[in-house]
Amino acid sequence: MSAPQRPYRPETRLVHAGQMRTEFGETSEALFLTQGFIYESAEECAARFSGDEPGFLYSRFSNPTVAMLEERMAAYEGAEAARATASGMAAVTASLMGQLKAGDHVVAARALFGSCRYIVEDLLPRFGVASTLVDGIDLDAWHKAVRPNTRTFFLESPTNPTLEIIDIRAVAEIAHSAGATLVVDNVFATPLWQSPLALGADCVVYSGTKHIDGQGRCLGGIILASNEFIQAHIHNLLRQTGPSISPFNAWVLLKGLETLHVRVRRQTDTAATVSVALVEHPKIVRMIYPGRPDHPQAKIARKQMRGGSTLVAFEVAGGKAAAFRFLNALKLIRISNNLGDAKSLITHPATTTHQRLRPEQRAEIGITDGLVRFSAGLEHPDDVCEDLLNALEAA
Ligand SMILES: *Cc1c(COP(=O)(O)O)cnc(C)c1O
Repeated sequence: MSAPQRPYRPETRLVHAGQMRTEFGETSEALFLTQGFIYESAEECAARFSGDEPGFLYSRFSNPTVAMLEERMAAYEGAEAARATASGMAAVTASLMGQLKAGDHVVAARALFGSCRYIVEDLLPRFGVASTLVDGIDLDAWHKAVRPNTRTFFLESPTNPTLEIIDIRAVAEIAHSAGATLVVDNVFATPLWQSPLALGADCVVYSGTKHIDGQGRCLGGIILASNEFIQAHIHNLLRQTGPSISPFNAWVLLKGLETLHVRVRRQTDTAATVSVALVEHPKIVRMIYPGRPDHPQAKIARKQMRGGSTLVAFEVAGGKAAAFRFLNALKLIRISNNLGDAKSLITHPATTTHQRLRPEQRAEIGITDGLVRFSAGLEHPDDVCEDLLNALEAA
């Protein structure tokens, strides 16, 4: 009994798609906080297990609230199928592990979210999967990294934290000509501003923890792909290994989707405003915002993104000491490694999310000691800009 998904526009699908109303006719989606399900007869139970009859079996496999989240997300993204997971990292791990076996090879962009880089660089090699990290904006480097056993490419764009833009369509073509797939972590772009599947990616993953919840409450992740990809690589892995999302968290994310476009538009406007307000400040030595015409990959951004970003990265003159003085002088914007929240947040990547990297690895991906990453919240943009400008005086 799901709501019709087409021909409604994307914002409408975010509010209605996937809803399964019960006999009580509730307005809001029901929270099915249950581990299991009962059957009217042994025959019915057997038929559900054999797949002859549709229905739920056990919440590690699926759950009505989780199914509503998956269907709504798939309808919005334009994907055939979706699977929700307990966290974004569970989604990333499954999207890679599900495709790989010992002897395979992965190519990934080196500018990755810290835990994603751990999976590619440290975890996969322990199971006999070799990996090569490349400079994601260098298309030649992707070409050259290909080996006969390359199975998948992995990237995020814009990257964390320096907001580089990787040409997704071009990388997908290189992957496909090598007989490999492309997985894109689309967290920084959000589903509003970028559709990797339409650009040729085979699988897109999200941390629902970020913009989809958007109010800092719970963790979650989503994997989106074709039916064939989900069946071949994801379905059984998730069912049997169990990184399942709690129905409660799925319900929070499902309700988060209803307001996603309103929030992300506002956050993007605020981030753009911040980039303009700070760019000429004498204490700012570098300003990185994907919506700006002076962004190094502005042309690719225009080609593959429908909007800027809810994040801004900038470098404060004077290195780590000045960056710390600046963060400590902020009154409204809070120091946190999280992003996509209703509250504006700021982080110093070199000492937090990218602390694990060696200094030369940080330098390679542009993470200097003065670099900070700002995540726009839902406050009035003038309050946000005033807080940043006041704190820069202290830097
Ligand atoms: C947060 C994040 C993840 C991991 O998501 P969790 O929900 O924290 O597990 C992966 N990739 C990117 C780009 C992220 O920002």
